[in-house]
Amino acid sequence: MSAAKKVSCEIVDAETAAGLESLAADLIERNHRHLRDANIKFAWNHSWQEDADGHTTLGQAKKVGDLERDATGIDLYILLNSEFYPEMDEAERVALIDHELCHCEVIYDSNSDPMRDVKDRICYRLRKHDFQEFAAIVRRHGKATPGFVGFSKLAQLQLFPQEASDS
Ligand SMILES: [Zn+2]
Repeated sequence: MSAAKKVSCEIVDAETAAGLESLAADLIERNHRHLRDANIKFAWNHSWQEDADGHTTLGQAKKVGDLERDATGIDLYILLNSEFYPEMDEAERVALIDHELCHCEVIYDSNSDPMRDVKDRICYRLRKHDFQEFAAIVRRHGKATPGFVGFSKLAQLQLFPQEASDS
């Protein structure tokens, strides 16, 4: 008998889901209140591998398309690395879920109200990282790092609070 085909992703089991959803609900209440109405489901990714630069994907937020949203009522998925997540400590898990929730953003209209589709569902988008840089460039150039300079909201981030208070 031939081996069954492996799946690359699957929804987490009910017990794991309960834990993850309560962790997410806590983070949403504290840091992501715009996501209070979002139906976010957690899934395992079994196929992520370390790339040539030594990066391993630990998690990924995914927006659900119109048809799947219609069929499932799910708004967003958070995929977690099934090999790494169980090995992570509590602080790392909380930081990872907080990070993935940062990717989940509401689309706002010109009145700063959440945009809704014709089915009265809040519209979501995936938000990019604030900046992306090489560790060596940050070490050598600090505040002048191109990835920081290119990010127009850097001033609001208070990445360098001591220096900011000096000026
Ligand atoms: Zn990310």
